[in-house]
Amino acid sequence: MHYVSFALLALPFAIGLSIGKRFDKLIDCLERSLSPHESIVLPGDLGFSNDTVRFSTLNAPTFRAVSRVSNEHDIRVSINCARLTATHFLVTGTGHGTYSGFGELQNGLEIYIGNLDGIKVDPKANVMTIGSATLFKDVISSLYNVGKNVPTGSSPCVGMVGATLGAGIGRLQGLYGLILDSLLSVRIMLPNTTVVEVSHHSNPELFWGIRGAGFNFGVILSATYRIYDEVPNGLHFSADYEFPISSAKPFYQALKDEAANMPAPLCITTSLTWNSSHNAPTLKVNAAYAGPESEGRVAVQFLDNIGPTLRRNYTTVPWDQLLSYTLFSGGDESVLECRVSSGKREVLSAAFNEVDVDAHVSMTEQFNDMVTRYPQMRASDNGLYFCATQVVRRYPKKSTAYPWRQAIGHYTWGIVYDDDSSTDATIDNLPKRMRATISRTAGTDGLNTYVGFSNGDEPLRALFSQENLSRLAALKKVYDPRGLFNAYHPLPTFYP
Ligand SMILES: Cc1cc2nc3c(=O)[nH]c(=O)nc-3n(C[C@H](O)[C@H](O)[C@H](O)COP(=O)(O)OP(=O)(O)OC[C@H]3O[C@@H](n4cnc5c(N)ncnc54)[C@H](O)[C@@H]3O)c2cc1C
Repeated sequence: MHYVSFALLALPFAIGLSIGKRFDKLIDCLERSLSPHESIVLPGDLGFSNDTVRFSTLNAPTFRAVSRVSNEHDIRVSINCARLTATHFLVTGTGHGTYSGFGELQNGLEIYIGNLDGIKVDPKANVMTIGSATLFKDVISSLYNVGKNVPTGSSPCVGMVGATLGAGIGRLQGLYGLILDSLLSVRIMLPNTTVVEVSHHSNPELFWGIRGAGFNFGVILSATYRIYDEVPNGLHFSADYEFPISSAKPFYQALKDEAANMPAPLCITTSLTWNSSHNAPTLKVNAAYAGPESEGRVAVQFLDNIGPTLRRNYTTVPWDQLLSYTLFSGGDESVLECRVSSGKREVLSAAFNEVDVDAHVSMTEQFNDMVTRYPQMRASDNGLYFCATQVVRRYPKKSTAYPWRQAIGHYTWGIVYDDDSSTDATIDNLPKRMRATISRTAGTDGLNTYVGFSNGDEPLRALFSQENLSRLAALKKVYDPRGLFNAYHPLPTFYP
């Protein structure tokens, strides 16, 4: 993390702290300035654990206070109090962001925006405006109720705005593009706490930057999106398959053959995990088709032809239930439960522009090797987003700061060490080797990673691209020269 030095600013407050052991200038500032009904939540208070829970606890930041905000005034006050007391802060909605640099934020302030989750839909104008931390699942149900849809991601509890700021990869992107391609405008509180409208017409350069590196420029107070008519009857076809890993080669060959002809409504996601009933990892695959079963059946034929499966299931479900039916979850409502931690999980990712079948098979074998040889790794997973990209690629490469429009797939690895003594080194560096196996053969110039799935160990150019970095650094210098918003995938203010 690249924090600026607050040494001079902090001096009087540091003195204040040393006078009374329990006196904390940050808390004092917040108490004096926040609206009366707002709460400052401290460690040990009821609600502190819930407000600070993170999807992954690996390298988690620590906080000495949470500022629960629900209006602009209180966000402004929180930023100002943090700045005046030289306290590093993190804006947090769902806590799904993963970043190895979080560990450097210790004893800071969490600005909790989770209560800013409103949704206003205008079906006639085809627009939706949402709050800072509205969840995918709430967007889906609100739009479904009025016969509309919009691209979202695959996990119900991720924040729509949080995902938009990096890109927003997922189902319906073949029809409508990345989530950020539907973004029309945002209201943002800049680091200097002024509020501005940002769109193609207002602050267009910042609009370019927030669509790909948006965590760097302030707090998004609300975001307005274009929305679309739902597919007929709002029904989506969903096919699940579970393959033994001996089918990895025909599976990846089928993906390679299908890549160029994938119908726009189709999205394939996978989950490679240890299956204790089979005493081996298995490859679960979901193919979701935004349209009627008759068309969906044709679209997934190439998966039907792969060969024997351990199980398979076809279903047609309303869009608002799709997430609880995929990958054999059979309508299990517990997948919709949010604010649940999945423990210490290291996340890595690589995008690829072409499928090298041997490399994908080799990566599968390495995963098998990892969970077979090291039982403490068996809660780990490997996932794939292989969704149609017609509309993603229709936008010019330079239209947004998100740089990887030509990617046809994104892998993620969720690496879980169930003990305290294992590290990457003790498991043969398999996580990074799996990532390298894919990126070396990805048809890209080095590692390309979607920032929302990234680890924090990647070079900046792997997240933002070499060609965009100086433009992004110039924006950072204008809007956040002191690096107040540097807690999550920070940009530099100068890039050679
Ligand atoms: C289980 C899981 C599933 C995922 N699935 C998908 C997927 O299908 N598609 C996809 O594209 N991505 C996906 N992601 C990645 C996700 O988009 C990123 O992790 C994103 O940063 C999460 O945002 P959040 O608001 O949910 O989480 P948070 O941790 O609350 O936010 C992450 C960071 O984003 C910034 N931020 C969030 N909201 C605001 C705001 N209103 N204003 C300013 N800054 C803000 C803050 O810096 C914050 O720390 C997934 C992640 C996980 C863990």
